[in-house]
Amino acid sequence: MNIDLSRRSFLKLAGAGVVATSVGAMGFGESEAAEIAHVRAFKLKTTTETRNTCPYCSVACGVIIYSKGDSRKGETADIVHIEGDADHPTNRGTLCPKGAALKDFVKSPTRLQHPMLRKPGSDTFERISWDDALDRIARLMKDDRDANLLAANAKGIPVNRWTTVGMLAASATTNETAWATFKFAKSLGIVGFDNQARV
Ligand code: SF4
Repeated sequence: MNIDLSRRSFLKLAGAGVVATSVGAMGFGESEAAEIAHVRAFKLKTTTETRNTCPYCSVACGVIIYSKGDSRKGETADIVHIEGDADHPTNRGTLCPKGAALKDFVKSPTRLQHPMLRKPGSDTFERISWDDALDRIARLMKDDRDANLLAANAKGIPVNRWTTVGMLAASATTNETAWATFKFAKSLGIVGFDNQARV
């Protein structure tokens, strides 16, 4: 028989098997052992699994985020557990201490969750909408690029350099998204480009 079993499914089954064997050794009957093994294997059954990438460094380990509450039904989704993705080719389920503490990072009261604006002359930040933030960024970028783009060097050779703006990106993304982000920056002529992982 040919069984198509993912690594994660195998670990779940193996875990259930160990529990069933252990309770059997303690004197429980077959039916009780099977029931306990069943409960253990589906501990996160009522949660929604979402695959994502650890945001901390360029290793980009795969994680699975478990949440309760279905936002499609008007419920508030809440993350209850995060663990390494055993099917991910980079980390195969493992996480370093930073990645293992991801839930604390997500739930930190100091985590920035909305665009914030500190107006000229003000000493406080105020929350603005994503639409307002994107409009403002686009306006300021356009004005600065129009004023400062270096279209050609001293010899008249086209260079299209925009050196008065820099772009800082994040590493919690796929190769494809990173590629598109880099192309976007370079298509504008941005020279100063970096991300928090320094890759
Ligand atoms: S789990 Fe650790 S090694 Fe993996 S991406 Fe996160 S910080 Fe980097």
